[in-house]
Amino acid sequence: MQLRLLGKTGLLVSALGFGAAPLGGPYGQVTQAEATQAVRVALELGINFFDTSPWYQASEQVLGEALVGVPRESYVLCTKLGRYPDTEKPNGHFDFSAARVRQSVDESLRRLRMDQLDIALCHDIEFAEDFNQILEETLPTLLECVAAGKVRFVGVSGLPLAIYPKVLESTSLDVILSYCHTSLNDNSLWDLIPYLDEKSVGVIGASPLAMGLLSDSGPQPWHPAPEALRLACLQALAWCKANGFSLAELAVAWTLQNAPVATTLVGMTSEKQVRQNAAMVGVVPDPEAVKAIQTILTPVQRLMWPSGKFAADAPPTS
Ligand code: NAD
Repeated sequence: MQLRLLGKTGLLVSALGFGAAPLGGPYGQVTQAEATQAVRVALELGINFFDTSPWYQASEQVLGEALVGVPRESYVLCTKLGRYPDTEKPNGHFDFSAARVRQSVDESLRRLRMDQLDIALCHDIEFAEDFNQILEETLPTLLECVAAGKVRFVGVSGLPLAIYPKVLESTSLDVILSYCHTSLNDNSLWDLIPYLDEKSVGVIGASPLAMGLLSDSGPQPWHPAPEALRLACLQALAWCKANGFSLAELAVAWTLQNAPVATTLVGMTSEKQVRQNAAMVGVVPDPEAVKAIQTILTPVQRLMWPSGKFAADAPPTS
């Protein structure tokens, strides 16, 4: 497994990271035994970076259980705060207040059964009622958690790339997590890398399968992609099936090969997926197959969906 430095944190993270969102069930139920097996095999294969969030239902609890007895210094744990499940709101409940930050960090530590979080991210800040709250209240409170020894490094995550300069023009961050912008259908995060390097920010890229759009079974019904993007990805999947390729493997290999990020998080639900994805590290994907897929995806390149108070990569609408 390749290890890379995450910005200026000094953390060495595996090129392939374990996205633990699926352990909470959005892509189908996963048992504790399956999750533990996937996590343990990931560690054996050199994957040392794990990402979770209170938003991902039981994910923190399940990941914490899977990591019981694993030496704490052998992995890097990232979780988030500010976005929480809510049975009445499909997008969840957002609370970036100081009191909730403190409570959230303590709850995560308890669910994960740990004394310290390596990284805590403000989760999907484009949904914040008042963007200034992130700068003036949420991040300063997180720094108090760092001073208290509960958190080591802080950052933000979200979909619209415009959120990152908006934060970084006012304050510094250790890391950012960007998702769905480092895959065959959209690699727009890469344009922002020189700016992020200049700001000395460690970059975590996530969702090379575009949250299932580029998987071998197509997206879940909840996927927010516009119809044109969904259909183009299904067309790419049909081409792969007809030509004997796994779209998921090509998509993971292509991102791992090309993405200028410290680590790429893939959501994994089973030992089989962990082994398949780990086997893609250092693999050059078939150039003809990549070309064929890119041709199919050309009309929908960088087509995104709006998220929170930001249009797809546009300034806030309110
Ligand atoms: P993803 O693009 O990694 O796709 C996950 C889907 O692909 C799941 O259905 C999984 O079963 C499937 N899959 C994985 N490997 C496969 C393989 N080899 N063959 C076939 N199918 C395979 O999407 P994701 O899980 O949403 O994103 C990755 C991680 O990034 C998340 O788990 C989470 O940790 C993080 N993330 C964070 C944010 C945020 O902070 N806002 C947003 C999205 C993702």
